[in-house]
Amino acid sequence: MAASGLALGGGIAAAAPREDGEEPAMAVPDARPWSPSHGHVDVTWSVDTSQKLVALTFDDGPMPKWTPMVHDILDAERVKATFFMVGQRVVRNARLVHGRMDRHEAGNHTWTHVDLAALPHQDVCRQVRRAHNAIATITGKEPRHLRPPFGRLGGATLSAAGQFGYDLTIWSIKMLEKTYQHDPPQLVDYIVNNTRPGAIVLAHDTGNEDRLVALRNLVPMIRGLRARGFEFVTVSELMMAAGPPPAPVQARGA
Ligand SMILES: [Zn+2]
Repeated sequence: MAASGLALGGGIAAAAPREDGEEPAMAVPDARPWSPSHGHVDVTWSVDTSQKLVALTFDDGPMPKWTPMVHDILDAERVKATFFMVGQRVVRNARLVHGRMDRHEAGNHTWTHVDLAALPHQDVCRQVRRAHNAIATITGKEPRHLRPPFGRLGGATLSAAGQFGYDLTIWSIKMLEKTYQHDPPQLVDYIVNNTRPGAIVLAHDTGNEDRLVALRNLVPMIRGLRARGFEFVTVSELMMAAGPPPAPVQARGA
């Protein structure tokens, strides 16, 4: 039993069966017929488009220390973004998002920022549902995109997303705060020069102090990308700009 079933993702196939007999991360939740409300799920790292569109995303908030600063910068630069929010933080810090999300999109980043790849279907559903309800109620925006914490994606995450009609949204380029901790201009150059049309950029509006280097340099990044002709859109807007997918790339090597 433990060796059968569809297992996706690096460590999942080796996961031990739980004592209650439930498989930890199967893409089909139980032995009964599986009728998710949506029969397929999209997983997006970036969007296939030749248009110079980019989606900035900020994860893990809202939190008091940096979220207001990020909103101030985006407002001043008139930039749209997508915030992948942690449900219980939205409830605790609701005042930080009131009146600040008009231009932006709200995404679901689970209720407690847990590794969904380690959870069974029911627990993933609980994480997604609680966060969804809190985010929708408090921001007035219905999330459609789930970003699994740490970008870790197991079978149960796929089945829960299918249950709720969510897309899964990862990223194609992220802030390398640790790498460029002491060289902010290099971080700006890295983001400005490596962002491709259709890119999804990962940043965080809370976390360790070393992440501040990215937020403190958002303005030159935004202006540098605009100078290259890029326009900032939400994740949903980016997806609407998708063209036909490119031809499959021949797999190389053994
Ligand atoms: Zn996160």
